Amino acid sequence: MEVTELFNVNLSPTTSSIFSTTWSEDGRIFVITENGLHVLEMLPDPRSVTPYVNLHRTWVSLPQFRPSENVGIQANDVMWELDQDEVYQMIMDVNLTPKLPTAKTHPCIVVQAAWSPGGVLRNNRCALGVMSNFGAVSLHASTNMQWELYTDISRQWLEMNQAEWNKEKLVDDLRANFHTLKERVARIKTTSFCWSDLFLLDSTKFELLITGQASGCILFWRLELTGAARVKPSLALTLDTDLKKISSLHWSTVGHNKGVLLAGDHGGRISSYVLLVSREGLECKHRAEVWPHADRLTVSHIATLPSPRGAVFLATKGTFLVALRLDNFGAVVTFTAQQVGNLNITGVCSLGDDVAMVVTQSGCFSEVTVHTTGSGEMTTSIRQLATDKNLTHWAAIGLSISHNRAFCAVAYRLCKAYDHLIRREPGQIAFFKLPHRKDSFTLLRDNPTQELTHYWDHVEAVRLQNISDGFVQGLEFATDHDDLEKYSPYQLRLAAVVLKMFVSLTDATENKDMIQLMRCRLRQMQLHVFVMYLCGRIGQLVDRWRSGLPLSPSDLDSLGLSRLWLRGSAARRDLTGEKMSALIEGTLGLPQVPGETREEFCHICRGGCPVESHRHSSCPAGHLLPRCSLTMRQCSIVPYMVCTICSEVALADVVVEGEDNPRCIYCETLFVIDEKVGSVAMTTANLSKSSTRLGQTDPVLEGRPKEEITSTDTL
Ligand SMILES: [Zn+2]
Ligand SMILES: [Zn+2]
Repeated sequence: MEVTELFNVNLSPTTSSIFSTTWSEDGRIFVITENGLHVLEMLPDPRSVTPYVNLHRTWVSLPQFRPSENVGIQANDVMWELDQDEVYQMIMDVNLTPKLPTAKTHPCIVVQAAWSPGGVLRNNRCALGVMSNFGAVSLHASTNMQWELYTDISRQWLEMNQAEWNKEKLVDDLRANFHTLKERVARIKTTSFCWSDLFLLDSTKFELLITGQASGCILFWRLELTGAARVKPSLALTLDTDLKKISSLHWSTVGHNKGVLLAGDHGGRISSYVLLVSREGLECKHRAEVWPHADRLTVSHIATLPSPRGAVFLATKGTFLVALRLDNFGAVVTFTAQQVGNLNITGVCSLGDDVAMVVTQSGCFSEVTVHTTGSGEMTTSIRQLATDKNLTHWAAIGLSISHNRAFCAVAYRLCKAYDHLIRREPGQIAFFKLPHRKDSFTLLRDNPTQELTHYWDHVEAVRLQNISDGFVQGLEFATDHDDLEKYSPYQLRLAAVVLKMFVSLTDATENKDMIQLMRCRLRQMQLHVFVMYLCGRIGQLVDRWRSGLPLSPSDLDSLGLSRLWLRGSAARRDLTGEKMSALIEGTLGLPQVPGETREEFCHICRGGCPVESHRHSSCPAGHLLPRCSLTMRQCSIVPYMVCTICSEVALADVVVEGEDNPRCIYCETLFVIDEKVGSVAMTTANLSKSSTRLGQTDPVLEGRPKEEITSTDTL
């Protein structure tokens, strides 16, 4: 079993913390660096022929906020009457360090970050929480491909405390003030944080952000999910604990509106808190000491490992991995501790039930399996996984695994004295293929969800495999049946993706006939998908009208155009299969709705045009307008939406139930507003000038050439 490196991306500035990378539910990865975070988003593209995954890189900069400078007492004022020990104490803590005129101030450094669960932001997106060495926690959200502050928890906490402190009167004793300063800093400084899962209570959706303070106090912030660009959290609960400097927090949902919070500290102890969310608020029901030994092995990370016998918690302490199983009251039922590798553990991820992958600073991968005996005792077994990556000079400092475990990503830090002029990129994130029992294509074929939506990591894995093998996996599947009706809608979409890969990878000059044949087949497959979608949509709209619900003018337009195309177009007359004919026949037999469009007019010159193509409308004057791929209406206004994978377009006013944005019917990715033209006022005349070039590219393979529609020379 080997973990094979696929490709890597160099990063700068250097990465600093351990557990420095995590994969989010919405397919993004962050990598912690000293003064901010790199966020990499996978942009899958079946037509790409590059041997790496296309990654969109954004940067989250760290707010330069030092809460400890605003606690009402300045370190500079109190330092004059302290003992040597106390002065050293001040210098050792960045939050207490006096500002000296000759010395540089400490820079703000990112020390911890965490993704929220999906759905905190619009479009099922995740927010990003970031914590600095000054103990400031801020939440960030991406809009228009830029990261903006979502909320500043630490500033809010500081303001709440400042209101209290302003009422207190300071004594005229520098030593007493020094102690007050230390107390206030410990209260204000966050040393660890985590997110809860989403809650639903009385149709209000919310989320908890949990911060552990240096004083040992745990704060629970409630964030209501409104979809707005900013959020104002409210403090739901303050929990005093006897932990000293909380170093890691972990939330795990254990029942309806019930969860267990595990908190570990710098001294090595771990405690558990069982919390219940109700209409009355948040309440701590039970607390227990899970690891009472202050063994001085800092608890650097806690994670959940799913298991059929009840979840296992994995706590990382230096080189040791502690596996714990808790009862309903948060008390330990059974535990086991084992050393993994010879250097600090820097990344732990679940690989499935009872199995976790662990990476240590030396870069060595281990697979840890938790076994439960008949009597409930736990044991662990460790297996080293080999890797082909050359690890000289690199220290691994973080591990993350993609949604369906197709890839894992490891963050590395350069681990040798280096020449600044030569090494400009002292950090790296490398992507590996995980050793799987099944290959990615088999997983896609047997995909239980019958949707590609969350399976793009495996599609990319198949593509990379194809490039390295020079052989297209799944081609047999895609060309198996001559009769396309033998495929299910999901199988058709998957087969189309495979064919796209094949067409892009095959040399067109040598295999001209073959490529021609495959393109034709691909077009046919997409037509099948489209007709199935269209018939479903016509049926839905007619049903809505039948049950007395009103249809909007755009619905009536869409309904009429769909029916006109289905009745008259040449393309659909090629669909002679039994099932397809029956489906079309049945749909055309549905009653007409009063007011639906019976004739199409060009949006530019108002001239009548026959509904021929389902991809664009063309009028006798030569105007060619792309059609919305979901409603068939002419797409002549901005903003519009695009599918980032197949470049299909859709009108921005199309709504679907349950989701913020509709999905592309060919590849099932969410449509997004085309931000390249979102801010540009474009007239229909401009669009038409460029759209006359639409016909020159093969619409199936190239998708809609959006570059041409939006290129500046036509504006
Ligand atoms: Zn026209
Ligand atoms: Zn698409």
